[in-house]
Amino acid sequence: MASSSESLARFLPDRFIEGICPNCQYTKARGDQCDNCGALHEPAELGEPHSTLDGGLVTFRETEHFILDLPKLEPALRFWLAGCDRSYWRGNTLQFTSNWLREGLQGRAITRDLEWGIPVPVDSEEFKDKRIYVWFDAVIGYYSASLEWAERNGTPGRWREWWENPDARSYYFIGKDNIPFHTIIWPAMLLGYGGLNLPYDIPANEFYNLEGEKMSTSRGWALWANDLQTQFAPDALRYYLAASAPEGRDTSWYWREFVRRNNDELVATWGNLVHRVLNIAHRHFGRVPEAGIRVDADRNILAAGAESFEKVGALLDSVQIKAALQEALSVAQKTNQYVSEQEPWKLVKTNPARAQTVIHTGLQLIDYLKVLLCPFFPFSSQQLHEMLGYRGTIGPQPTLAEALDPDDQVRRVLIGNYGTLPVWKPSPIPVGQVVSAPSMLFKKLNLPERSDQ
Ligand SMILES: [Zn+2]
Repeated sequence: MASSSESLARFLPDRFIEGICPNCQYTKARGDQCDNCGALHEPAELGEPHSTLDGGLVTFRETEHFILDLPKLEPALRFWLAGCDRSYWRGNTLQFTSNWLREGLQGRAITRDLEWGIPVPVDSEEFKDKRIYVWFDAVIGYYSASLEWAERNGTPGRWREWWENPDARSYYFIGKDNIPFHTIIWPAMLLGYGGLNLPYDIPANEFYNLEGEKMSTSRGWALWANDLQTQFAPDALRYYLAASAPEGRDTSWYWREFVRRNNDELVATWGNLVHRVLNIAHRHFGRVPEAGIRVDADRNILAAGAESFEKVGALLDSVQIKAALQEALSVAQKTNQYVSEQEPWKLVKTNPARAQTVIHTGLQLIDYLKVLLCPFFPFSSQQLHEMLGYRGTIGPQPTLAEALDPDDQVRRVLIGNYGTLPVWKPSPIPVGQVVSAPSMLFKKLNLPERSDQ
């Protein structure tokens, strides 16, 4: 069926159609998907369909379309889903997918009576004025983008490393309203085509709100990336966004919390630890001192730091980003406590040999933490890397660049050079390496004025 607005006398894309959800009776279901229950449907299945442009009635007429034959692909899809233990998927992803399969799959039209978009690749008069609909071609971008990347880098065959290598794992980071497109439709398309890797994990986030209320760009109730990045340091933003991420339930950006967590956690714990230890190291030794005889307190904190590599690594592998960040920061907390108990600022006067061991241990822990926290804080980890006397980059630094699209448009893109990755294991800090005077890693923040808007 083709939908058109009676009053505007034109074809209406699905997202401009609203009506009653056939599944949950929600009255503001969109033409292709219900935001309340997540069900996908055809616009003609809605009750009282009307246009969101002018509220006018939407009518349907017979037309011919290509269909993605999901019932035919269903056995292969079920076989794939049951083929291994998927308990590592997030609860919402699993739940949603199994609900969908329980109801059985239906074919979905992949073309529309549209004049713009990707042409239908068949030689037929009838399909000259039809286009492939967005939900079908959008997911193909995952594949075509990697082909384009390989081509542009002068290594046209390298896309195979992701799509054909059986050891490659693909992770699809999405919002929860996109789950069925990534656990059902895209895998079904890949199975239909054959020979390409299917998704390994689909870590779907829940919704992220602002001060407890749903964001709305039309009402101006939103966080603007450009505003944020001109006002705040990237690592401060990365910290709060990671720490408050809607991994298992809807969460919210709260300005008060952003400021509090930056000041009380980032500055007071991690920033303070770096400052205290590097300050003494620089002033009294100028270099990484040699450790003398270790006592239990030294051995315990060194073991806690070393063991954390496996814990944080495993959490990141299973996309438990909040827990990974918490684990790494707990090492910073313990180290802070160790430094407070050992009081190296007194030891430098009373027991210089012991001071050396404590500062060596503190620097070693900071060096571990620099790597453990690098996925979250790439910029401050790099700063610290240099203060600790290392050269080169600790890991990929995200940078803004410009790229020329095939349509000759210049676009700004976020890229990173992932050729060098820090070694994810505890390695000894070189004794004698020059330690610089510490510069501030994180700044204390005040509550911005516009935060109560
Ligand atoms: Zn619904």
